[in-house]
Amino acid sequence: MMYQYRCACCNQVVLASDTTCPKCGSHHIRSPFGFWFFCCVACLVIAIGVTFGKLYLKHHPTDEGAPKTITDLLSSGKSQSLN
Ligand SMILES: [Zn+2]
Repeated sequence: MMYQYRCACCNQVVLASDTTCPKCGSHHIRSPFGFWFFCCVACLVIAIGVTFGKLYLKHHPTDEGAPKTITDLLSSGKSQSLN
């Protein structure tokens, strides 16, 4: 199994509920999914942030006609250069 808690000192496989290594007594238990858990949480936070940002812009529109975002600025500049 790849996804197992292991001791950081002696690499002994330990239970997820263990806080100390039964072999060497070390408290350094490495979590197998710490990195992936962090990635998932980061993705969720970004997705929620983008969703709420879009909702906020929808319900609180800024000045009409004025470019709101960088993409608006870029697209307006593009259309002007095409004319
Ligand atoms: Zn150990």
